[in-house]
Amino acid sequence: MGYKYLFGPVPSRRLGISLGVDLLPFKTCSFNCIYCECGKTTDYLIDRKEFYPIDEIFSEISDYLKSNNTPDFLTFSGSGEPTLYLKLGELIERCKKSFPDVKVAILTNSSLFYREDVRLDCSKADVVLPSLDSARAETFLKLDRPAEKNILDKIINGLIEFRKAFDKEIWLEVFFAKGINDSKEDLDALHDALIKINPDIVQLNTLDRPPADSSTLPVSKKFLKDVALLWKDLPVEIISRYKDRSEIENYSPEFEDQIISTLKRRPMTRNDLVEIYKKPMYEIGKYLDILEKEKKVKNVIIGNKIFIQLQS
Ligand code: SF4
Repeated sequence: MGYKYLFGPVPSRRLGISLGVDLLPFKTCSFNCIYCECGKTTDYLIDRKEFYPIDEIFSEISDYLKSNNTPDFLTFSGSGEPTLYLKLGELIERCKKSFPDVKVAILTNSSLFYREDVRLDCSKADVVLPSLDSARAETFLKLDRPAEKNILDKIINGLIEFRKAFDKEIWLEVFFAKGINDSKEDLDALHDALIKINPDIVQLNTLDRPPADSSTLPVSKKFLKDVALLWKDLPVEIISRYKDRSEIENYSPEFEDQIISTLKRRPMTRNDLVEIYKKPMYEIGKYLDILEKEKKVKNVIIGNKIFIQLQS
């Protein structure tokens, strides 16, 4: 059967084997980010709708899960903003009721988190990966180009509210573009907002694919590392697609072996590894990055937490 709403499964850096579910027509989004790898937003919306019948989407998911191995995650993402789909919460509930083993992730630009119904829908997921690229209105407008202009404070407050109610993991991504959100003022404002939001992991990212606006430039890996050092009071990880170990500064094969032998004993959370080795999250993250890429470890959810487990 050819699927209209499903894509993958694909190996995802953050989620292991992920089956993507796209709930909206191509490039339907509340933002029009200059770095978007899907191109310019064509349907620029802030109102939630049932873009496609929930029964049709659920029937595809159901068909896939009945005849294939369960992916590590069913991921609501795609070429637009998944929380614009009005029946997102109901769809997650139906998936979990019919397939209790399935784990659900949502990738969101956070634009609708000021809405209680959106927070409630997202709370049904096992892990939520929101974005926040700036905490300064001027920068936010330049980088994310939101459909609703005066929304930044509402987004930050919505994320703070969501954190208070959601006891599963929040992995918050910050995307950096050179000359746009890399000033000291931007970093300080974002740091203050992140402290208030209190995500489980802050993931730093930059451009590595053609962007919607071709003048967008990546920041350097050194910049990402400097931010990780500057924000040492936050659980920061750098998401960068290293080709191999030789690209990574100060990579220690001995330390990689230590991590593997620790994980042989039992799965660990990222925070467990930070505690055991007394190293910052971004240091641990660079080893996990390689090990995940080589399919030596994967993320599994146990209870409400995400653990790293050796792949058999
Ligand atoms: S929020 Fe995501 S899908 Fe929407 S424009 Fe930005 S990067 Fe693209």
